[in-house]
Amino acid sequence: MKAAVVEEFNKPLVVQNFPDPECGPNDVIVQVKANGVCRSDWHAWVGDWEWIGLKPELPHILGHEFAGIIEEVGANVKRFKKGDRVVIPFSMGCGKCSCCQTGHQNVCENLTIFGFACNGSYAQYTRVPLADVNLVHLPESIDFTAAASLGCRFMTSFHAVADISGVKAGDFFTIYGAGGVGLAATQIANSLGARVIAVDIDDSKLDMAKSLGAFATVNSKNENPIEAIMEITKGGSDISYDALGIAETCRNAILSLRNRGTHVQVGLTSKEEGGMISLPTDLIVAKELQIKGSLGMQAHRYQALLSMVESGQLHPEKLVSKTIPLEEASSVLESMGQYGTVGSIIIDRF
Ligand SMILES: [Zn+2]
Ligand SMILES: [Zn+2]
Repeated sequence: MKAAVVEEFNKPLVVQNFPDPECGPNDVIVQVKANGVCRSDWHAWVGDWEWIGLKPELPHILGHEFAGIIEEVGANVKRFKKGDRVVIPFSMGCGKCSCCQTGHQNVCENLTIFGFACNGSYAQYTRVPLADVNLVHLPESIDFTAAASLGCRFMTSFHAVADISGVKAGDFFTIYGAGGVGLAATQIANSLGARVIAVDIDDSKLDMAKSLGAFATVNSKNENPIEAIMEITKGGSDISYDALGIAETCRNAILSLRNRGTHVQVGLTSKEEGGMISLPTDLIVAKELQIKGSLGMQAHRYQALLSMVESGQLHPEKLVSKTIPLEEASSVLESMGQYGTVGSIIIDRF
């Protein structure tokens, strides 16, 4: 099969003939129809995330947000058949541990992060392990390009906003970082009745946040974001959301909260932080702030997400800024180092 392969960190992907994936008894092989190029791919491509066990062994095929059609089904797989349209959460459970048993497959004790722990979907075909636990049927009405962005950024934000943040109608919901995760969160929080304030240093990203329903935007290059948010909210945001994971956005997000506010950390850190960010700890105590983490989403929560997409309450397709052939994926990754992409870029030709 054709695949775009990481042979060396930080070097262009090599599009080449790669051995076809083999289907184990609990697996399916999916023909990839669309695959999103995600900031997490960029992190893996530059060699980040050794500190959380996500640095892939090379050669490696990236890709963890995709949609496609089942090509082959393992002997033990019961819920899926050849020809089914499918999507996956990148956070894959084992189906057996106590977290999986209680419905929290996204934080499975034996978690498999698709596209990092195994080869991913920058390829014509990919293998999905433990298909009955982790695969999701994709309705006919949602096209593959829109669905590709559901596998990571959109579903990550859906879980973080709808399940973790505790957002209520009318809340101020401040989002630092208007990349794919931040823009998805803007749309989702807005659809749940929150007043979203998007913060970024790029006006084109802030314009996109506005078009997705943001109540207000703040360009943190031009003004102090904490002061701006205190002014807009008259005392602080109910919820803050760090979509990026750098020290500055994480701390500024927490400092933007009102008393008893909740911070949701979604972005993982980069090399500079190496997983550690010092926080305004005394303020966390004094203001009774809550700090919550959020990772991916469970396959069973897709039902709620997909039905909101089908009924027109959510529009993942609005985040797609461009579709490209597999050959152009490498140059998109390279431009991400300078935060040069707006919205989601989806590979739809393999
Ligand atoms: Zn498990
Ligand atoms: Zn991703």
